[in-house]
Amino acid sequence: MGVGTVEDLLLRFPRRYENRAGLTPIASLRPGQTATVVGEVLSSGVRTTRRPGFRLFEVVVRDSSGAIRAVFPNQAFLKDVFRPHQQVVLYGLLEYRSGGLQFTNAEYEIVRGEVVDDAWADDVTVHTGRIVPIYEKIGAVTTRMQRSLIYQLLGELKDPGGVGGVGGVFDPVPAEVRRGMPTRLEAVRAVHFPTAGTDVDALNACATDAHRRLIFEEFFLFQAGLVLRKRRQAEEKKARPVVVDDRVRDAARKVLPFKLTDGQKVALREIVTDMQRPEPMHRLLQGDVGAGKTIVALLAAIVAMENGQQVAFMAPTEILADQHYLTIRRLLDRSRFRVASLTGSLTAAKKRAALAEIASGTTHLVVGTHALVEGAVEFRELGLVIIDEQHRFGVLQRATLREKGQKPDVLVMTATPIPRTLALTAFGDLDVSVIRGLPPGRQPIKTLAKPETRRDEVYTLVRQELEQGRQAYVIYPLVDESEKVDLKAATAMFGTLQQDVFPEYRVALLHGRMKADEKEQVMAAFARGDVHVLAATTVVEVGVDVANATVMLIEHAERFGLSQLHQLRGRVGRGAHRSTCILLYQYPVTEQGKARIDALTQTTDGFVIAERDLEIRGPGDFFGTRQSGLPTLRVGDLVRDHVLLEDARRAAVSWLDDASRARPLVEYLSAHWAERFGLVGVG
Ligand code: ADP
Ligand code: MG
Repeated sequence: MGVGTVEDLLLRFPRRYENRAGLTPIASLRPGQTATVVGEVLSSGVRTTRRPGFRLFEVVVRDSSGAIRAVFPNQAFLKDVFRPHQQVVLYGLLEYRSGGLQFTNAEYEIVRGEVVDDAWADDVTVHTGRIVPIYEKIGAVTTRMQRSLIYQLLGELKDPGGVGGVGGVFDPVPAEVRRGMPTRLEAVRAVHFPTAGTDVDALNACATDAHRRLIFEEFFLFQAGLVLRKRRQAEEKKARPVVVDDRVRDAARKVLPFKLTDGQKVALREIVTDMQRPEPMHRLLQGDVGAGKTIVALLAAIVAMENGQQVAFMAPTEILADQHYLTIRRLLDRSRFRVASLTGSLTAAKKRAALAEIASGTTHLVVGTHALVEGAVEFRELGLVIIDEQHRFGVLQRATLREKGQKPDVLVMTATPIPRTLALTAFGDLDVSVIRGLPPGRQPIKTLAKPETRRDEVYTLVRQELEQGRQAYVIYPLVDESEKVDLKAATAMFGTLQQDVFPEYRVALLHGRMKADEKEQVMAAFARGDVHVLAATTVVEVGVDVANATVMLIEHAERFGLSQLHQLRGRVGRGAHRSTCILLYQYPVTEQGKARIDALTQTTDGFVIAERDLEIRGPGDFFGTRQSGLPTLRVGDLVRDHVLLEDARRAAVSWLDDASRARPLVEYLSAHWAERFGLVGVG
């Protein structure tokens, strides 16, 4: 269950807390009340009932005001736990049953007649009579067993005093960084056994000083790890930095089909500056859908190629790789550079030939999918790696590809903007460039949400565009490419669109399970305008670029993720004509589904949408893949605790600036890093 050490156990926050402090005299108990009483056991025993095989354990407890019965159905083993004259605490709900007031299945605790280690706490009760932690079960280990265990462990632990004392708890957050915050040990104690009077709501919201201290610690360690990794990367030297002179500038200008926006210029300058440095570049290029990241990356590629280096351009899907390949080949048509495509679907012979040309250096730029990170690919001199739509690639894949070259420059591009907290976490070891604004002349996209009942109206809208000579996408959700049912639905939709709805136009079907050359043919026909309506699954989600398409109709919009919807919408509005995105939804729509549709109709700003998406989905699901490079956080929550994350990042950066005092932290991280965050080591 992921709990291998005492530390693991102590760093699991209680799921919630119950206030069981405050004793009620037995005589004043009322039905419906949840109360704690303490008293002496008068009698106890197992009672049979009228129901065969059903036995009740019953105990009667007395204090100076009166007596109360506590009933435990089917727990005969308790006869070995309770004995007359013991002092016990009972906590639970009071009910009026069979003629009297009673506790049923109360929490109980024997407070005398049992050794209680009170080394660190004044309270002698653990399960009652205080604010009590409730834990998630760990397999067969109940919340009660965990509580006892943790209580006992906390009694054995002490502040370190010296280095490595037995039971001493090392605090990885240095005192100077900690300032007002509790020590690690203080925080762990207060999180599990809060002192009397602590605000239970604050506890349940993980908002006490103790909680925040431990959350801060997790972020601090993670950010320190990223900072260290970044510094380590900065100590590496690449084989050959690029040189930029007039010849290089001319070459770049020649392929440029339009004027760069100011935002693009800024980003390109940052990238090329990195490329001229002796240390390899590790840069993230962010920009909204349609901001024009591809051309910026291509210009960087030209700089590398003019310097005699090879470039690898990676995309997450074959369709997108193919599309990039076609675009790049077109743009580089009149240059001397040779572009190749390397995807998983090449025949063995073609693949061999392609690999040979990459190895010999005949190919200058190779576009591909993850096939590019697989073992067989050798480059003559790989200078620049461009990874498009990064959030489908993991940190490890990034690392593997980097090893292909002599420490090449790496440029990572994201499909949609990423909220800052996630960027700091998943890409915290990268420098960031952001392209602000969109290319000129873009018409804002109108977004409509329509229920299934208005389908005819929606088709009329689409037809109006087709009559103007425009083209349309109709997207069908495909939860999983292997789901035959969905595929059948998409195929059926295609049939209906072609035969019944738009018989006078050409409709084509595109989905992920088609062969690569079929997909390519369909895409090319759509790009040429020979196909008017492209009925597709989400394979067109990223990167596909056809300026004459002005309608994006999304079926079952309630099923899509927010950034996915934003990506899909970004496929239109790319030319001079005004575009429309229609979200067709079917009931029932979940609350989240509605929130997503609302967000999309309210704004077209990808950065705003990204933040909304994070709120709706939570960080774990944001990237929609386990390979997202996000660490598994134990106590921190990237949405709830984003302010702490920023604090922790600042603290980590400034602490590590001073190499002399950073040493203990660096050692601690080297020992625990890979294990805790599942990333490549820093040590
Ligand atoms: P994304 O950032 O989403 O990857 P693309 O790189 O696909 O966006 O660019 C979107 C579209 O905008 C493409 O058709 C591209 O040719 C065009 N484009 C990019 N930059 C400019 C510019 N400066 N001026 C005009 N059109 C541009
Ligand atoms: Mg793109």
